[in-house]
Amino acid sequence: MEIIVQKFGGTSVQSKENRIHVINHIKRAIQKNKKVVVVVSAMGRSPEPYATDTLLSLVHFSEEENTRREMDMLMSCGETISSVVLTSELLAEGISTTALSGGLAGIITDDEFSDATITSVQPSRLLHELNTHNVVVVAGFQGQTPTGEVTTLGRGGSDTTAASLGVALEAEQIEIYTDVEGIMTADPRIVKRAQLLQAVTYNDICHLAYQGAKVIHPRAVEIAMQSEVPLRVRSTYSEDPGTYISRSLNDHPEISIKDRVVTGFAHLKSITQIKVHLKDEQRRQSIVFKTMAEAGISVDFINISPSEIVFTVLTDVAPIAVRLLEEQKFSVDTVENCAKISAVGSGMTGVPGVAARIVTTLANQNIDILQSADSHSTIWVLIAEKNIHEAMNALHNEFGLHETYDNFKNKPPTSSRNSNM
Ligand code: ADP
Ligand code: MG
Repeated sequence: MEIIVQKFGGTSVQSKENRIHVINHIKRAIQKNKKVVVVVSAMGRSPEPYATDTLLSLVHFSEEENTRREMDMLMSCGETISSVVLTSELLAEGISTTALSGGLAGIITDDEFSDATITSVQPSRLLHELNTHNVVVVAGFQGQTPTGEVTTLGRGGSDTTAASLGVALEAEQIEIYTDVEGIMTADPRIVKRAQLLQAVTYNDICHLAYQGAKVIHPRAVEIAMQSEVPLRVRSTYSEDPGTYISRSLNDHPEISIKDRVVTGFAHLKSITQIKVHLKDEQRRQSIVFKTMAEAGISVDFINISPSEIVFTVLTDVAPIAVRLLEEQKFSVDTVENCAKISAVGSGMTGVPGVAARIVTTLANQNIDILQSADSHSTIWVLIAEKNIHEAMNALHNEFGLHETYDNFKNKPPTSSRNSNM
């Protein structure tokens, strides 16, 4: 039995009109003699009536009550509704279909409500249904604890459902259908000239996704990567192949680009920089991080010197972070409204001058770098959020990512490296 997993995001299943495109993709897979496991998100985004945020606005529990369990029961409804609506429309087309909740499809999680982690996948019921149906529609984003409590998987949860089922079923491919052509060299909402990436490695996509490219959830990429099930990210509204994600670009020699220094840029907004002044109190450095860890606040961009510790946190937790540090008698300054830009590309490993090009490009735009960091395949810079458009577009141009794919492919392999110094 050859199985394909197809995941459709919120806008793809939002309206009957959009779902016609969804059904056509499913039909094409059936025509190729595949069994199709379809994973759906909730229909549309707020204020659509069955979107997750709309459902959440129906209740107002008081903060003191521990109602995370009930909230997950509510939040999971969006995907349940979506799975049954699509099932009814597939049946109307004469396609043999049945619907399953995440729990029945075998998604078993821990009990970390609203952000549960999948601990195992038990696909026996799903496999049983696939024996007698061409299509099984699974409600994404939801799972079940071993004792039967409904849980949800957090942001991007339906991507994670699709990847986990794909791996458990040893699917031929996991296809993530969305409202853009595939994975682009930057978020097309910020960089108008962003280009489609036809092939990328799990590694590059993982980094891009962790650094803000929300087109696919990084956890889903990690899960697929462990078992090397290929992923494809593509548009619901066309038959174009989109982006193929696998271990190595050599998997598809006809579409590989070997001289790409930067694969893409990702950005994250709503970041606050925190500066903790230490004076003669170096020995208290560890208390800063212990305080943040105990409060469950994740820190990024850490720079430590004898007189100062600088790091960043997400803006929504910044007031708590500052209060906790001041309670420990630290003197603290903050810079609000920051954004992080990440240049990602395995191709930059060992290539000199990439950081210099980034710094020079931003300097030419009069954009200050507030902090920076790098690893072998990523360079991060922190800038003021108001500069994000200018910075992303300038960097994207500097690394030639606006050039069409064919231009890229026809360039002599050394051309982009010669100018790296
Ligand atoms: P879905 O509801 O289908 O899961 P998402 O909104 O989660 O869709 O993801 C698709 C969106 O991701 C696009 O509309 C796009 O604005 C955004 N995005 C961010 N970075 C990228 C990127 N590098 N390539 C493509 N899309 C991106
Ligand atoms: Mg998504």
